[in-house]
Amino acid sequence: MLNRRNFLKTSVAALPIGGALDVLHPDVGLAAASVTDASLGDKTLKLAPLPPRLAPIDPATMPWQQKVRRVGQSNMTEHDPAVMNVQEWADFWHSAKADIVFVSVTGILAFYPSRVKFHRHGKFLNGRDFLGECVAAAKKRGMRVVARMSPDLNWGDALDAHPEWAMRNADGSPQLSGEEPRLFRTCMFSSYMDDYVSAIMREVSSLYDVDCFYTNGWPPIGSLPDCHCAICSKLPPANTPAYWRIFNDRVVELWHKYDAIAKEKKPGSFYFANLGGNVRCGPNLDRLGKIAAWFQADNQGRTYDNPAVWGCSLQGRVCSAVMDGKFAANVTAAYSTGIVRWRNASKNPAEAKMWLNQTLASGMALYYHFIGSECGLGEDRRWQKVGADYFQWAAKHDSHLTPRRSIANLGVIMGQNTQLFYQGPAAAHSRDHMRETIHGIYETLLSGRFAFDFVHEDRLEPERLSKYRALLLPNVAMLSDRQCQQIRDYVHSGGSIMASFETSLYDEDLKPRVDPGLADLFGISKAGDVIGTNGNAYYGRIERDHPILAGFANTNWLPGTQNRVPLKPIQNPVLTVVPGFVQYPPELAYPPIAHTDEPAVVLHEIGSSRIAYFPGDIERTIWLTGHGDLARLLHNTIRWIMQDESTVHVEGDGLLEMFAWETMPGYAIHMINYTNPNAHHGWMNSVYPLGRQAVSMKLPVGVKVRSVELLRAESNVPFRVDGDVLRFTIPQVDDYEVAAISTSRG
Ligand SMILES: [Zn+2]
Repeated sequence: MLNRRNFLKTSVAALPIGGALDVLHPDVGLAAASVTDASLGDKTLKLAPLPPRLAPIDPATMPWQQKVRRVGQSNMTEHDPAVMNVQEWADFWHSAKADIVFVSVTGILAFYPSRVKFHRHGKFLNGRDFLGECVAAAKKRGMRVVARMSPDLNWGDALDAHPEWAMRNADGSPQLSGEEPRLFRTCMFSSYMDDYVSAIMREVSSLYDVDCFYTNGWPPIGSLPDCHCAICSKLPPANTPAYWRIFNDRVVELWHKYDAIAKEKKPGSFYFANLGGNVRCGPNLDRLGKIAAWFQADNQGRTYDNPAVWGCSLQGRVCSAVMDGKFAANVTAAYSTGIVRWRNASKNPAEAKMWLNQTLASGMALYYHFIGSECGLGEDRRWQKVGADYFQWAAKHDSHLTPRRSIANLGVIMGQNTQLFYQGPAAAHSRDHMRETIHGIYETLLSGRFAFDFVHEDRLEPERLSKYRALLLPNVAMLSDRQCQQIRDYVHSGGSIMASFETSLYDEDLKPRVDPGLADLFGISKAGDVIGTNGNAYYGRIERDHPILAGFANTNWLPGTQNRVPLKPIQNPVLTVVPGFVQYPPELAYPPIAHTDEPAVVLHEIGSSRIAYFPGDIERTIWLTGHGDLARLLHNTIRWIMQDESTVHVEGDGLLEMFAWETMPGYAIHMINYTNPNAHHGWMNSVYPLGRQAVSMKLPVGVKVRSVELLRAESNVPFRVDGDVLRFTIPQVDDYEVAAISTSRG
């Protein structure tokens, strides 16, 4: 039977492009000539032309790790030397087309006959060189090897001999592993990291042909150490910006030290460490991005605390912001992650695949991970086919799936400092404040179909910002004077911004300013401390017509936000604050003050720049409520500051995440379908396909399109070029689709 998919597969490549096609196959009719957005009525979006294509590069000149696309890891347990079939293990990863595998050295338990003192041999090792056998088996099959170490824990005999190695509690007692109290936690400022870890690296280098070194469990992700040992008690208090700077200095010092050891035997080798935690990573990502050859993003799956489906894509955007195209991989746990864990049982295949989809779409290399390799590779073997099938599919399309640069012209300043240290205003003090803020802006950008990049706040140089038509500052509360000046310079050179709430109200040390550092740019003056909500939140009264209010009718006001910075009056406001009031009892649920001159948004233009400032925590309120008015208000405002200019437009139904990359063969437009009851709860269990998605983008001068291929459907689709504008339609998106555009110069 000729269904839609095999019709496309068999017929479309031979079809002429143009009007005749619509008659032959109306299902894939091309988009209307003008790109419209339902929420904007008839308003036409302008497509900004893409920049000239990058010059080709010779793969032979690239460092070897840049060519790694698939990483395999059977995380070895102490028991594996007794039960693992080394050849079977190597055959599995080789058949899955892994380019590189992790092999355990460790530091907690040696997987080889180590002579380093306190490097305890696993109890099933019995003198066997298990590490050496694994390295040889991988190499025999052409796979590279990462030597995996764990410097975070050690045993009581080491503690007795070296009490200075331990992290200490405030009462002086050693900090112990939460699950295995025979293990103590090692302090990163102690000689354990300098001497013990270095000794293991040198021993491994002298014995084995490994390609690089990796430490698991250090540096910490998402929260900073709180240690009271003799060294750390002399440092500034934990969880302060002052401590963070010293912490970062130590991370960088050890990174350089281990990297130099890795290179002693092989110049092409390097050291890398456990990272992740996306915008709330422990180490400063600007500094790490400059020295890391491999970004190991250890976000293995969704958690109960952080259940948004896009956790892996969010990490990919962070990696793009700081790695400048260097190698990044995100770990997908094939086992069951979450608040209740089964590290030796497979997770839902749809969820594992969704994490792999996000890895690829956001520009990282695939990495698949399971715990233990009992004979037959474990009691539960279902994970193997899921990962191997995915790897084998991806291997057919490496050139299209390897990004060179993002073509987005919208940047979001991620504010790592704010994410780590700012905990919201006194009115709503919460460590989750910024987590909710980032998810709020993320969801808003996805529902508005914006292509966007993250921008690190320590990377605001003009040459990095010039590609962006606009920058968003979602409550980037902490900004230094220098960073404020860089943003000011960006605006004065023609860029636009949208900011919210306490953006720039604090300096880099969390010291409050009287007025926000960017108050001059926002055109505001603070009238008091943050006002929270008790009962009804405030409203924004519509004072006059403006493009940011497109689509609102039959209402005099819009919902405000949970918290706001009160502002002094401005000229000619668009929205004014109707202060919050009682919501219960309903007898009193009406505004005693129905009209004020306090602005609820401040908009103005400087030359070709447009500036929008919301005094409320609008992104976070969107995440907490899902209120469509607030999302629409932000969509309209982002389009207004960008003067409706986007580089790629995708029109269709559904919640999807979109990435647009320049690639070696041309361009790749990735779409991940999140339209699913499990988008923000539990795991994906099935796929709910989306219908047609119409894509348009404006090609650089002289670039011709040869083909548009859907990599998941494995079919070509017809396309049309009107002037410089490329248009095509993707008939269906299951969980993921990649439109791979091959180009040539005309
Ligand atoms: Zn310490």
